[in-house]
Amino acid sequence: MMPAFAAVLVLAAALALAGCTGSPPQSDGGKVKVVASFYPLYDFAENVGGDRVVVTTLIPTGVEPHEFEPTASDIRELSGADVFLYNGANMEPWADRVIESVGKDDLVVSDTSRGIALRESDEDGHHGEEAETEGGHSHEGGFDPHIWLSPALAKVQVNNIRDALIKADPEGKAEYEKNAAEYNARLDALDSKIMAAMANCTKKDILVTHATLGYFCERYGCLQIAISGVDPEAEPSPADLASIIDQARERNVSAVFFESMIDPRSAQTISSEINGSVLAFNSVHGLTPEESAAGEDYISLMEGNLANIKIGLGCG
Ligand SMILES: [Zn+2]
Repeated sequence: MMPAFAAVLVLAAALALAGCTGSPPQSDGGKVKVVASFYPLYDFAENVGGDRVVVTTLIPTGVEPHEFEPTASDIRELSGADVFLYNGANMEPWADRVIESVGKDDLVVSDTSRGIALRESDEDGHHGEEAETEGGHSHEGGFDPHIWLSPALAKVQVNNIRDALIKADPEGKAEYEKNAAEYNARLDALDSKIMAAMANCTKKDILVTHATLGYFCERYGCLQIAISGVDPEAEPSPADLASIIDQARERNVSAVFFESMIDPRSAQTISSEINGSVLAFNSVHGLTPEESAAGEDYISLMEGNLANIKIGLGCG
């Protein structure tokens, strides 16, 4: 992984020598060019930015962001941007290196986790097996990055995005403030709906494929059992699987929530061992092409998650 990144640095240096950086294109008919690292930030930025912005993501549709490594063309895209939004909390361990290699003084950079009390990454559910850190796409030993899955924390990300857009485009201040307030009202409604539903469930334990629900369960009072840690690439060992199956039986878990972008074999093994059902959980790391074509977004996917959680936990 490192040699590839070294090549990117060389290319970035070559671009700088050729005078391609440091001249903000401000293209797209005067619109603010926003690059978000991955989908949820794209969706939030579209809602806050409205007609004043053009938003793209570095991580393409259908790619699991934990596996993402930036390429030379990503560096080029960023060097033509006005704003770069990333999740922070170690979701993008490559962010600092990339920002540095872009070397664009007037690029407004926002770590959207700013102001959020971060959880240490929770190693429950994959004891013993450490993920490889080569290439920097694993978060073990750091923070749990899955803040966007708690709508209350997504609001903080939205406010950080609003502030970044205002910094890049002060003339749009009133519009960004209005749009952010409107979108945050929708997030408040989603939060209240989840809160009300989760207050009345027969079960509290949620068995998920990777540890995405730390912040969600902190807010709504559930207990997460994760097949792998915060990094979905950390495959559980047979001993880990056996321990998860024991926990699931002990706690009378009857549903396994599985994510479409992750290898389903462990989830299937566990569900057949506990004689439980398998329900979809969308951790909104990115949209599949089908979800994109169907017009799904963060809020609609979270509504779908709530419907399945109500089934899996027997909520009233
Ligand atoms: Zn994740």
